[in-house]
Amino acid sequence: MSNVISTKFIFITGGVVSSLGKGLTGASIGSLLKSRGVSVTAVKLDPYINVDPGTMSPFQHGEVFVTEDGAETDLDLGHYERFIGIKLGRLNNFTSGQVYESVIARERRGDYLGKTVQVIPHITDEIKDRLYKSVQGYQVAIVEIGGTVGDIESLPFLEAIRQIGAKQGSKNCLFIHLTLLPYIEVAGEVKTKPTQHSVKALTSHGIFPSIIVCRSAQPIDEENRDKISLFCNVDRDCVISAPDLSSIYELPLHLHKQGLDTRIAEKLNIPGETDISLWKDLLGSLRSKSTRQVTIGMVGKYDNPEESYKSLAEALYHCGAKSGLQVKIEHVSSEKILHGEIKLQELDIDGILIPGGFGERGVEGMVQGARYAREHGIPIFGICLGMQIMVIEMARHLLGREGANSSEFNPDTPDPVIDLMHEQKAVTCKGGSMRLGSYNCKLVPETKVHDLYGKDLINERHRHRYEFNNRYMNDLEEVGVVFSGSNEERGLVEIIERTESFYIGVQFHPEFNSTPHTPHPLFCGFLQAALEYHDSRKKDATRSAGVVARISGCV
Ligand code: GLN
Repeated sequence: MSNVISTKFIFITGGVVSSLGKGLTGASIGSLLKSRGVSVTAVKLDPYINVDPGTMSPFQHGEVFVTEDGAETDLDLGHYERFIGIKLGRLNNFTSGQVYESVIARERRGDYLGKTVQVIPHITDEIKDRLYKSVQGYQVAIVEIGGTVGDIESLPFLEAIRQIGAKQGSKNCLFIHLTLLPYIEVAGEVKTKPTQHSVKALTSHGIFPSIIVCRSAQPIDEENRDKISLFCNVDRDCVISAPDLSSIYELPLHLHKQGLDTRIAEKLNIPGETDISLWKDLLGSLRSKSTRQVTIGMVGKYDNPEESYKSLAEALYHCGAKSGLQVKIEHVSSEKILHGEIKLQELDIDGILIPGGFGERGVEGMVQGARYAREHGIPIFGICLGMQIMVIEMARHLLGREGANSSEFNPDTPDPVIDLMHEQKAVTCKGGSMRLGSYNCKLVPETKVHDLYGKDLINERHRHRYEFNNRYMNDLEEVGVVFSGSNEERGLVEIIERTESFYIGVQFHPEFNSTPHTPHPLFCGFLQAALEYHDSRKKDATRSAGVVARISGCV
């Protein structure tokens, strides 16, 4: 592609250390620009060699975010969807692995006509082509480069965006660099030197940032702002402070107050005025001094809970904010339940959530959690693996099929209540081969889920290989299971529930569809049930004696 394209690019690079929040910064900028009436998309470029994060452990990489079109992507796409209120797809996240895979495939086909295939121009051209394709039709594209400037593996990406910058010109392309200002305890000072070095590294690749966003524990002072402006060659009002905030949803307003969106609009000739009212309203509810609070016990295996269940936690906070509830998430290790280190009856929780997951580890502790919730009328919400666990638990304890299991955990189980679909049995290549993306689900009238969604047909995103085994449907119905949602085309069970309490298991991942401005009905229903359970616990004098008042502050 040789001509200047009409989409304006905002490239976001990171310096000094990783995990500074490039995704959140990009998502906040995207939401501010969208509120000016501009059409915005977002792309994340990941320099690692994996083709996608689908085969990576969440311990390594955090949550895998699934798009509607079934791509397994970086969790930052979740931030972009939630903050900007857009739907992204497989074009919006690509990795070095994908780039090299296509270039090598082309080389094998002989498409390069005898040429030596090189990083520049072949890899960089492929990066640019993919980028141009993914931003087509949008006025502004936020493009985040994963990793940190100075990493060997991000060099082709930096070179590609440098070339785009040179072609597009400064009115159509902007570079924003996000860095860390560390606080040195013994000196009692915030240091700007790492930022200076990181900007220098960036300029050595031919990229000159015109805005620097500084991450730090506290807001930066005027002296440091001056220093960064002088040494890094950016205007003073383009040194933006991004201190730690109590909620990620404060960031758009925080950046707006410093004029970041105005600076960007000036530099890129973007018309309009930012309408910040939605974010102000949301912050109003987040900060409301609600005395009502619920504690949700998330029963899972915990290596890296904050990152592994990002969208889930956000979905709970969205509904909490909407209903003026403080939500505290208590991570309950299912392995500790199994080994007796955590006693379910001693937990001070108002609801149990069993999240998605893979592999056998921790599963038996989750089964115990599901049984405890069912037998004690504690609201329970099972998501994907969570629903499968609920089925296994009821087959064992209500149907007396003691060996019931998922064939994922015991291929020789006498009762594979959760089993591989026929088409999955032949799969040998793991990457990208699960049931992925959005599928429709028909809801049965007069069920809890129908009441909550308020409609007959829904669409939710999937990421799993195993399914409910319909052979056990009649038996489970006899012990009170209601099959309240299904995918009719494939004859697959999507939702189970019981009538006596909030007991809902879903085979999909509703958390991917929740945003702060449009909280998901299932999470809202779950929190409402948890609140009712909380109140009923309080009324129960004998039990309330042992209840310790909790302070949330999680949102
Ligand atoms: N491991 C289960 C499966 O593959 C559940 C997956 C999940 O929870 N996302 O079916």
